[in-house]
Amino acid sequence: MSEVLGIANLAVHFRGRRNWRGRHPPAVRAVDGVTFSLGERETLGLVGESGCGKSTLGNAVLRLVTPTAGQIRFEGRDVTGATGEELRALRRDVQMIFQDPYSALNPKLRVGESIGEPLLAHGLAQGAALRQQVSELLGLVGLPPERASRYPHEFSGGQRQRLVIARALALKPKLIVCDEPVSALDVSIRSQILNLLMEFQQKLNLSYLFISHDLSVVRHISHRVAVMYLGRIVELAPRDNLFREPLHPYTEALISAIPLPDPVAQRKRARIILKGELPKPTAPPPGCPFHTRCPIAIPKCREIVPLLEEKRPGHWAACHLRG
Ligand code: SF4
Repeated sequence: MSEVLGIANLAVHFRGRRNWRGRHPPAVRAVDGVTFSLGERETLGLVGESGCGKSTLGNAVLRLVTPTAGQIRFEGRDVTGATGEELRALRRDVQMIFQDPYSALNPKLRVGESIGEPLLAHGLAQGAALRQQVSELLGLVGLPPERASRYPHEFSGGQRQRLVIARALALKPKLIVCDEPVSALDVSIRSQILNLLMEFQQKLNLSYLFISHDLSVVRHISHRVAVMYLGRIVELAPRDNLFREPLHPYTEALISAIPLPDPVAQRKRARIILKGELPKPTAPPPGCPFHTRCPIAIPKCREIVPLLEEKRPGHWAACHLRG
């Protein structure tokens, strides 16, 4: 499988404003040395608690935030410092679907205008050709083309997310960063949208970086899953391996919190409750960043950072004790 996206040692640190003494507060280490690659027609799920850096990582791929260090490759090209036409081309090939379909569409524009806007902005279509393409995009996401003249408030939440997807597909991207794309939707509609995304992946050769805090959703759609904690990937594995045999204690705790459909199995299952709060990304703990909450931590964990290592073929984890 050829690589579409390659991320190497990526860091995104945010520095706050100087205080009245002229000193900077400690930087927020939102993403702190992340490495992975994403292949053609592959979905990599990125999971973790809110504040773990997954959305910042997604924004960095689109260069909506500037990396502090590391490299972003797209189809083999280094786009970490892309500017001008190169950045424009990147933003044509990489699209984003955000969590909230309500705010993602301009309420004052007819939905046809919103969907056609990227085509117009990139000079790819206008007039009758633009209207034709908008009709096709609406048809593709299962909405009647004649509804192009309606406004966003005339659509349901699920339909609005279909409109957002139609707009993301307008420029025929190769990669879509999906940032919690179904979190704001009713449970009954979620699987429809996930299935639509999976259908387009096959039809249109798309790769997805799929960001979510919800492991059930990630399990449904991903080929591989990366688990983030405090700006780092702590485990990365093919989906089934990760859910069947998680290696990192943090992944185990996340999986133990997924409700089981069988109430008897749910009652019998031991849930791992993590103690304490997610530490501040301005002051990550020394050693293993998870040691303050890890139920099996040993003294070494407080001093030495575990490296993300391939413990089994294709299964990576950052833990001194596991694997
Ligand atoms: Fe827990 Fe230590 Fe493994 Fe970190 S390295 S996850 S603290 S056992």
